[in-house]
Amino acid sequence: MNKIALFVCLVSGLCLAIPLVAEVHTTEDSTKSNPSVRQHAVKDFHSYANPGDVRVRHLNLELEVLFGEKILKGIAILSIERVSQNTQAPLILDTRTLNIAKVETSSDGTNYTPTTFTVGSLDKILGAPLTIKLPEKVDRVRINYSTDPGASGVQWLEPSQTAGKKDPFVFTQSESIHARSWIPLQDTPQVRITYTARVRTPRNLLAVMSAENDPRTPRDGDYHFWMPQPIPSYLIALAVGDLSFRSLGRRTGVYAEPPVVDKAAREFSDTEKMIQATERVYGPYRWGRYDLLVLPPSFPYGGMENPRLTFATPTVLAGDKSLVSLVAHELAHSWSGNLVTNATWRDFWLNEGFTVYLERRILEAVYGRPRAEMEAALGRHDLEEELATLDERDQILHIDLTGRDPDAGSTNIPYEKGALFLRHLEETFGRERFDRFLRGYFDHFTFQSITTEEFVDYLKKNLLDKYPQLAARIPVAQWIEEPGIPASAPKPTSPAFARVESEARRWLRNEIPAAKIPAARWTTQEWLHFLNSLPQALDRKKMEELDETFHLTRSGNSEIAFQWLMMSIRNRYEPAYPRLEEFLTSIGRRKFIKPLYEELAKTPEGKERAMAIYRRARPTYHPIAVASVDEVLKWNNP
Ligand SMILES: [Zn+2]
Repeated sequence: MNKIALFVCLVSGLCLAIPLVAEVHTTEDSTKSNPSVRQHAVKDFHSYANPGDVRVRHLNLELEVLFGEKILKGIAILSIERVSQNTQAPLILDTRTLNIAKVETSSDGTNYTPTTFTVGSLDKILGAPLTIKLPEKVDRVRINYSTDPGASGVQWLEPSQTAGKKDPFVFTQSESIHARSWIPLQDTPQVRITYTARVRTPRNLLAVMSAENDPRTPRDGDYHFWMPQPIPSYLIALAVGDLSFRSLGRRTGVYAEPPVVDKAAREFSDTEKMIQATERVYGPYRWGRYDLLVLPPSFPYGGMENPRLTFATPTVLAGDKSLVSLVAHELAHSWSGNLVTNATWRDFWLNEGFTVYLERRILEAVYGRPRAEMEAALGRHDLEEELATLDERDQILHIDLTGRDPDAGSTNIPYEKGALFLRHLEETFGRERFDRFLRGYFDHFTFQSITTEEFVDYLKKNLLDKYPQLAARIPVAQWIEEPGIPASAPKPTSPAFARVESEARRWLRNEIPAAKIPAARWTTQEWLHFLNSLPQALDRKKMEELDETFHLTRSGNSEIAFQWLMMSIRNRYEPAYPRLEEFLTSIGRRKFIKPLYEELAKTPEGKERAMAIYRRARPTYHPIAVASVDEVLKWNNP
């Protein structure tokens, strides 16, 4: 699509985007589910904002990207609405290490007058509240500010940290509560806003956002964006770098650095098929385009479901589509998470449990049931392994995160336990009924943020109460409010995995040499299951035999390499140490690096090795990954 907004630039250099009404057809669904649906606020322990009194409806953002200083210089204009009788209520926003230069208010969107504001003291988890005095009848607030070079949601990369090695790169990661480190906002997922943005960058670089991106936009260092659907703040995202684009289909494509983009396009070529498979069951894709952005390897997550533009780690580019469950996952978020959103971070399982369930359904539709069942079985394995290490309070879907960083709730519980619960519902009520229920759920709560209680209420009315005999078979309260997994939980099984286990047993009993294991046609998932089913302790001879036969130390598949390196640390298999060091200094994905450092830290020599590697790697990691590894290694000498 061509430009979708008129940009009216005022004398001050400030530009306002005015959506062209004729182009609003992509937002058909959003208009009928305007964010005004939720007027009541729910308690969110991870925000200072007061959306029960004053609500932000729209953000107009202007950013200048200053690579030299590692700063985003911004002007945020918030359109606000008073929603309570308290006409004296100030506007309270979330911030973290933002330098606020000036705050003004306006009642006509043209004339702005300075107003008083205070920035509260800095809390380690929450940041600091920005309290703004609001004169009566004011409906716009304009804030001039800049970010801190160490902003928790922004990572600045030197050219040496990119694939192209020529230009710097910057990207944001707002989930869970990091949007506040680069935009002053009501940073709680219960508040949904639309946004427009103008981003200025060095001329040779391209900016992309979680908004309408026009792949044909001229590269001129001045970019305009519009996000017409109301989204929570954690889905606002920006990346700037030397990016190329490849089309994957009518409404899909991939952005990446030039040396990576063709490989990424081949890996993700099934994306359009995945969208169609999801639409067949869960209703239309409501966001216009679906593009992917492959980031440099320091991206701390596998993927981030930024609407219209999934951010993805390059560690899924295995060359054989074996790790594209990540695309299925992030795409599924276009329904579960982005369309229907957790209202607070204790409801996070509504985002992730639903998404893992949908992800497996998409895999089943595109690659067949055996593949989806393998992934489900691996998921259950990971869940059980983690359950053994978690405090009871952290095994609960509807988790209490009061006083804690919401990132602490990002375990397998919301993901795999949540998905298992939905699978239990599917198996109990039958796929047809459950599909109908979920489709209705997405339609009913479209573009809304909901709590666990609201979900349970909807579930009761629309499924449980309709089939009381079936409902009696499923312990809903136990699933949601209690630790552990109910005994009646489904156990995904895979015949292929059973064969892999039997080969593993034969090899362990020395009935066959490694060379006779029929691994040539194994999928990545079968490999992972094979490694999972070996005992924790393996002697040097066995490790060597596997490595010599299958070259696991040199594996280019990030998931297999990770499992092998975990085994190598556990069994002090030194030939893999140089690869371990290379892995830890070239990849910043938290899912991989945190467990590797944890495993190293279990012995004094390992801890020493970990500290030496981390000293070099730490400056290249994302702040979110740094926070996790600092804790693992009790790091205090930056
Ligand atoms: Zn997810």
